Amino acid sequence: AKKRDGKNGAQIFDNSMLDDSRRRAELESHIESGLSDDWFEAHLQPIVNIDDRSIAGFEALMRLHHPQKGILPPARIIDVAEETGSIVRIGNRVMEKAISHFARLSRLDGMQDTYLAINFSPLQFESGLPMRIAALLSRYDIRPERIVVEITEAVLMDDNPETRTVINEICRYGCRIALDDFGTGYSSLSYINRFPVDIIKIDQSFIRAINDIASDVSLKSRMLVESITTLSHKMNCTVIAEGIETEEECATLRAMGLDYGQGYLFHRPQHPNDLMKALAGPRADHLTPVAQAS
Ligand code: C2E
Ligand code: MG
Ligand code: MG
Ligand code: MG
Repeated sequence: AKKRDGKNGAQIFDNSMLDDSRRRAELESHIESGLSDDWFEAHLQPIVNIDDRSIAGFEALMRLHHPQKGILPPARIIDVAEETGSIVRIGNRVMEKAISHFARLSRLDGMQDTYLAINFSPLQFESGLPMRIAALLSRYDIRPERIVVEITEAVLMDDNPETRTVINEICRYGCRIALDDFGTGYSSLSYINRFPVDIIKIDQSFIRAINDIASDVSLKSRMLVESITTLSHKMNCTVIAEGIETEEECATLRAMGLDYGQGYLFHRPQHPNDLMKALAGPRADHLTPVAQAS
């Protein structure tokens, strides 16, 4: 926890640095316990067709369910896990859970052709990944076309030849690639060209901004979202808006021609068991045996 060097090279600490490293150590210990005691879970958030709001797919979102503290959100955990390298073990765990839940969900009426999107960190793109995915899909009897690998610019930016090989292999196997948080990096457009991207997910910061009434920001955000959508369609990519919270946002995005939407307006991320119950809806009775199969 070295903050900066003084002129004489002495290290200067302050209380916030100490708090920081304490919090970090605490998270690291939650992560280790989470792996050994099986606290990691994959929650699922539906992604809908923006026109009729039918479900097109689900995104798996990692949750660490601490027995005392409850559910811890992923952002900080992922930061720490990427630094220590434990993100690979966590990612594998979450992927397996997500795929097994997805296999169950797929048996519900109307869910046969939905897809499952899984987030991946840069460190996960190592040589064993394609085989690992293939083994899971064969175990759960899921077609590769139904799996979407979500990556961010960070994955593409390290320009590591192994990463490139692994991504290409996953594509050849039949899975699709989504570029997540699109627009938050600084050279996003160049990647659509160099990588086999099928889906563009426009970051929620743009979606938040579009209805920031009459402001300059809103006007520019609308132009950006519209241009990204047009361009993506020309490149045969599907476009998703992330973080749609209001009917107004949905209407604007629909008018702009976006394909899919994801956000609290439609569905929140949920534990797969709760999601199963909600989706089974009025037919819950004769679906109970499926729901209990977990
Ligand atoms: P992301 O992949 O961009 O996921 C979308 C995030 O937006 C999720 O946050 C989701 O809960 C949130 N969200 C969805 N709809 C709305 C909305 O209407 N309003 C608002 N305010 N938020 C909405 P979450 O679950 O906290 O995940 C944060 C990030 O953590 C994810 O962003 C992703 O980058 C990362 N992440 C999550 N799960 C995993 C995982 O299994 N592996 C890796 N490597 N990263 C993960
Ligand atoms: Mg994502
Ligand atoms: Mg995102
Ligand atoms: Mg994100």
